[in-house]
Amino acid sequence: MAAFEGRTALVTGAARGIGRAVAERLARDGADLALCDLQADWLEDTAAAVRAMGRKTETWAVDVSRSDAVAETVERVLETFGRIDVLVNNAGITRDKLLARMTDEDWDSVLAVNLRGTFLFSRAVARPMMKQRSGAIVNIASIIGLIGNPGQCNYAASKAGVMALTKSTAKELASRNVRVNAVAPGFIETRMTDVLAEDVREKMLAAIPLRRLGTPEDVAEAVAFLAGDAASYVTGHVLTVSGGMVM
Ligand code: NAP
Repeated sequence: MAAFEGRTALVTGAARGIGRAVAERLARDGADLALCDLQADWLEDTAAAVRAMGRKTETWAVDVSRSDAVAETVERVLETFGRIDVLVNNAGITRDKLLARMTDEDWDSVLAVNLRGTFLFSRAVARPMMKQRSGAIVNIASIIGLIGNPGQCNYAASKAGVMALTKSTAKELASRNVRVNAVAPGFIETRMTDVLAEDVREKMLAAIPLRRLGTPEDVAEAVAFLAGDAASYVTGHVLTVSGGMVM
């Protein structure tokens, strides 16, 4: 039997990049997928790929930073699928600027999506997962939350917060067999890194022992491991997927 057969996974930010790769990876292993992003029509390609693998899927437009919208989405997902076994908090944004130039809006928007969004979805699934006495939450952090980066104090703080949230919720939910882990990717080939100048990219490659940027699929493999039964004795862990850049 496939590892996620009969299980439902909810993935945020699933329209593209890492979120899409995670959704497809879990579907390949049997999961049904609740796909969330800012607009439902952006999710059509991901949904089509999931359906092509014979899995059930629905799409939801939800801004992860909005408390009411998140609570309502989780309720609808539970009505549609009956349960949520895996939550992947993946939606994330950057608004890079040096500290002296960073606006309140730059700070607030990044914290709202990356950290508050992760909190809101985790809170919304906690009760049903505890009730069913099983569940796995995987939060997408970043190595920047571990090592910092000039121009990204808002992003670094949000991702460090995600890791702290991961550990605290792991301790809270463990007695009900709900595991909470994080993946901290390094530099991954997505739209987020497409915008980097060539010289920045060269510098980055020189700092990566495996000498390549990661792929969304590299991250998806780590998420599938932490979400599945192979990791049934792993909770509160932050798994870096960075080609050795952070060890
Ligand atoms: P991406 O290609 O920009 O995809 C992120 C998705 O999340 C997009 O579809 C985006 O929609 C959506 N999103 C943004 N704000 C949202 C909101 N408020 N509510 C719901 N969905 C929202 O990014 P990615 O590179 O795959 O990154 C995914 C995650 O990995 C993020 O948490 C990121 O911080 C983390 N990460 C990425 C890297 C990397 O190198 N790429 C490294 C470390 C960590 P829009 O298209 O409207 O923005």
